Amino acid sequence: MFQDKNIPKTPISDIGEFELIKKITQHFKIRQNKTILGIGDDSSVLDFKNNQTLVSSDMLVEGIHFDLAYMPLKHLGYKSVMVNLSDIYAMNGKASHILVSIAISNRFTIESIQEIYKGIETACKNYNVDLIGGDTTSSTSGLIISITAIGYAKKNQVVLRKGAKPNDLMIVTGDLGGAYIGLQVLEREKAVFNVNPQSQPDLSQYSYCIERQLKPEARKDISSILSDLKITPTSMIDISDGLSSEIIHLSESSKVGFILYEDKIPLDSEVTKTCEEFKINGSIAALNGGEDYELLFTINQKDYKKIKTSPSFSIIGHVTNDINDRHMISRLGEKIKLEAQGWNSTKKTY
Ligand code: ADP
Ligand code: MG
Repeated sequence: MFQDKNIPKTPISDIGEFELIKKITQHFKIRQNKTILGIGDDSSVLDFKNNQTLVSSDMLVEGIHFDLAYMPLKHLGYKSVMVNLSDIYAMNGKASHILVSIAISNRFTIESIQEIYKGIETACKNYNVDLIGGDTTSSTSGLIISITAIGYAKKNQVVLRKGAKPNDLMIVTGDLGGAYIGLQVLEREKAVFNVNPQSQPDLSQYSYCIERQLKPEARKDISSILSDLKITPTSMIDISDGLSSEIIHLSESSKVGFILYEDKIPLDSEVTKTCEEFKINGSIAALNGGEDYELLFTINQKDYKKIKTSPSFSIIGHVTNDINDRHMISRLGEKIKLEAQGWNSTKKTY
């Protein structure tokens, strides 16, 4: 519904796969001195010298992870990169390279694939990452984008899900729930549009939530902020599936429990307002929503003083020694068991 109807629609069969790859990749610059050889050969060549290499993949499937009715293609390209870089940042690493593989049906034109790559290119520029390869193939139905992100970190800087210790503090970056409630706004507008295609929605009062859904930013800044503060988290994970499910992941990997305080969960005021309109509890949006791409981590209590005034972080709870003790203390003081009700993309239907 938000696609530009004026751009040309050239079928990919007009030029074929090799020309398409050239067309979409030729504007990309190499920015990293770690890239010895980029796109164009059978493999790229990288040199990370004395660092450990971090590698992670994520796949986005049309109709499961995104809906082109409200996801502009450029944003889709951008978001696909963010989802992947976030996994590198969640290891306390620096992201440096991506490989992008796409499967496209004949419904897609050259121009539409170029739009996706414009978003990928903007992401590469903003995050100082090199596109060094990928694969292109056809698909009988929707669009699939699979990205592999590569990054690096010094051996003693890598932070795993495993490592949280009893009495550590639990911290989250940014604010939560926005991407989920943004999706609810977009779904509602799509339903309105399907009934009345002439409708011109004014979505300005939801701009933050919608941006959190359509144009998330991965937390590239956090590893440097932490290193400036001389803090190495004891465990870390990115919030792709909702706070509740990520806490459970940290708990399982670290073999410890967690107590979360509901009143400490950071929510933006627009998110709170929009949640009220949709009659959704803001905490539930943060706990179960997902796609916020913030970072959740634990630190030793001795680092409390270094972090307490930093605007990037909220201290939301602490670690306990019992793995079965995964609870939230509600605003009313009740103890509620945390459940992994996170985003299950295989169950999600549009
Ligand atoms: P191969 O036959 O070895 O698979 P391709 O013709 O698929 O080679 O790819 C040629 C070059 O273009 C390679 O460097 C590959 O990594 C890169 N490439 C192919 N498809 C894409 C894509 N969708 N995005 C980025 N790079 C791509
Ligand atoms: Mg290939």
